[in-house]
Amino acid sequence: MKLRSQDEKDDRRFLETLPDSLRASILDGERVRYCLKADMSRQGVFAASFLVITDQAVYGLEVDGESVRVPLAGIEEAKNFEVFGGGQVMVQTEDGMRHLVSYSRDLVPEFAAGTRIIEDLIHDREVVLPELEGPAYSKSGVPLPERGSQSPTDVPRWEIIKRLYEIVRPYRGRLILMTLAMLVTVVAQMSIPLTTKFIVDEVLNEGNLEAINTSAATEALGFFCLIICGAYTLIAIGRVFGNSLTAWLSGRITADLRARLHEQMQRLTMSYHGKRESGELIGRVMNDTGELKQFLVEGVPYLFINTLSFLAIGAILFWLNWFLALFVFLPVPLLTVGGGWFWKKLVPLFHKRGNRNSVMHSTLGESIRGIKSVKALSQEDRRHKQFLKDNEGFFSVVFRLEKTWIRFAEVMALVIGIGSVCVWYFGGRAILDPNSSFTFGDLIAFIGYMVMFYAPLQWFTAVVNWMTHAFASAERILHILDQDPEQYDDPNAITLPKIEGAIEFQDVRFSYDRGKEVIKGVTVAIQPGEMIGLVGKSGAGKSTLINLCCRFYDVDSGAILVDGHDLRKIKLSQWRENIGIVMQDPFLFNASIEENIRYGRPNASFEDVVRAARAAEAHEFILGKDEGYDTLVGEGGSNLSGGEKQRLAIARAILNDPPILILDEATSAVDSETEKAIQAAITNLVKGRTTIAIAHRLATLRNADRLLVIDDGQVVEMGTHEELLGKEDGHFAKLVKIQAENNRLRSEMQAYSHD
Ligand code: ADP
Repeated sequence: MKLRSQDEKDDRRFLETLPDSLRASILDGERVRYCLKADMSRQGVFAASFLVITDQAVYGLEVDGESVRVPLAGIEEAKNFEVFGGGQVMVQTEDGMRHLVSYSRDLVPEFAAGTRIIEDLIHDREVVLPELEGPAYSKSGVPLPERGSQSPTDVPRWEIIKRLYEIVRPYRGRLILMTLAMLVTVVAQMSIPLTTKFIVDEVLNEGNLEAINTSAATEALGFFCLIICGAYTLIAIGRVFGNSLTAWLSGRITADLRARLHEQMQRLTMSYHGKRESGELIGRVMNDTGELKQFLVEGVPYLFINTLSFLAIGAILFWLNWFLALFVFLPVPLLTVGGGWFWKKLVPLFHKRGNRNSVMHSTLGESIRGIKSVKALSQEDRRHKQFLKDNEGFFSVVFRLEKTWIRFAEVMALVIGIGSVCVWYFGGRAILDPNSSFTFGDLIAFIGYMVMFYAPLQWFTAVVNWMTHAFASAERILHILDQDPEQYDDPNAITLPKIEGAIEFQDVRFSYDRGKEVIKGVTVAIQPGEMIGLVGKSGAGKSTLINLCCRFYDVDSGAILVDGHDLRKIKLSQWRENIGIVMQDPFLFNASIEENIRYGRPNASFEDVVRAARAAEAHEFILGKDEGYDTLVGEGGSNLSGGEKQRLAIARAILNDPPILILDEATSAVDSETEKAIQAAITNLVKGRTTIAIAHRLATLRNADRLLVIDDGQVVEMGTHEELLGKEDGHFAKLVKIQAENNRLRSEMQAYSHD
């Protein structure tokens, strides 16, 4: 049994601290290698329990229950059973199954890996553990929405702000200019009510009105009006500059973020992409960047400017008349609290509107894209009813939103109105009071400031709430940017001088979702230039083997060797350049045929492109198109037939001239003419290359040097076509029989047996 002696080599991720009370259960002299904390007792109630693996035994330990010890030497098999709501780790011994621990759903990956450790140990394999995607729970013990994400309360706001500043930093010059422009606007705005006060008090006072010569007063009036004119001009200039800079910055930041996200997504691993809907990722790129941008560019300056003017206006009001200022402050709590209350009602409505809108969009999209099926099945009415339902749903949410919005705005206006009436009343009384120095000008200025003071206030809570949303967006964006990209360059990765094309699978095991092994120990050696056909039922694991071979995913344990080197140690870029992949449903980019063929080798000459197209039996049909090689293929190749797309993909692979070829044959039937052309193209393509093909066509099956029959993640049969057909009860013979029931194949079989 291969047990390593140094503790450092054991994976720290699987080393929980064992409580002292449980430590006593471990036999003297045994050393704990791995220790996983579970959250259920074997009876299925929530309780702390542990799976402990020592150098000699495995333990299932429970704080309030019995402990189970099974020596490693006595274990025949370790199994991880997923049951509803969680799972159980069991080991098979001579005396039957022993139940070690139970755990809840969130811990499936950990315990699947734990089971793997036991399996690796009892089978003398080196323990190779898959990357876990981070913890299922937050530090404070709250389940996380997504493994490895952080709960919003765990992310220090300050960290996010720092990271956001990094994004904005290259533009800090403009940011400062924008802030200055806004400050100028605010100062200019604040000077207006004060100047009005002087006009009323100094110019339009009783003394001047009664005086016969008013030229001095007129002069003063002109002076003050000039000041106000100046202020308005400054406001205009400040706004033009400020808003233009805002527009520039907002566009710039969104564009940068989108670019960074797009770049990152191109580099993320297939397992990351495999777990996410494309719509979700597109949403993150488009919506989250939009939300964040809007907050950075409108929210931040808003908070900054309004906090400043709020303080300044407050100070001026107190300076003018502290008693009256108290009245102005009276509705402040009402405005902020009320604003917050309304906002709470609005937010779910905003979300609902977003959801209903996307539901309606997808129904509309399906109705249009699926129009042929709808008509063919005479479901126009049903489709329309569905749309009407979504349409009405959207309408009702939008109306509720608008209604709440209108009420909100009007109630706030009422509060402000009442506030100003108070100021008029108490202000008016102060003016009438002969003992008070409060002037009419003061009152005018008061009213002016009051409006400036209240207006932003009602949005304050909204903006603070908005900030929370923007932070959530920021977190989602940063989460993507923080993902590890594909390991392009393992520091020790090597570049082979030449790849010959020998591929060896050594006891390869793999699972997409931890706990559900899809490839269960595949061992096979493929010689350079050999053509291997993979056959098996759908879901057997053929595509998965191909995914592993392309290194879209890394094996969980075992290894894939290329010319004797572990694939993980070879530079990924070199490997990918050396394999050509022809997918079952090849993806074509919306560009010309020529550009699509040379997608992998943008510098290839036109002659090379044509040569490749000829070899792929595509030249003829390309010339038959109106614009020949310049013909646009349409979105996803929609202007081409399935057979044509396949041949373009083959031409692409021929142009790349890789020593290794991965071929996923199309199952769909094509006419015999096209079939022949494709077959000829494939024959040209595989010449002299190591080929792994998921084979459906009889011709391919016959041409393959060896067929591997895959069933339930294992190679169950291997041999030439004839050898396998000869085995009466063999898997392949059975598969052929089942398939022969298909009419098309039957007729093809007949043609085949006749030639
Ligand atoms: P085949 O190519 O033989 O039809 P696959 O290799 O596609 O089979 O699938 C093998 C098993 O792996 C199936 O049970 C399938 O459901 C599962 N599987 C395939 N792709 C994924 C994925 N991206 N995530 C999770 N499970 C997957």
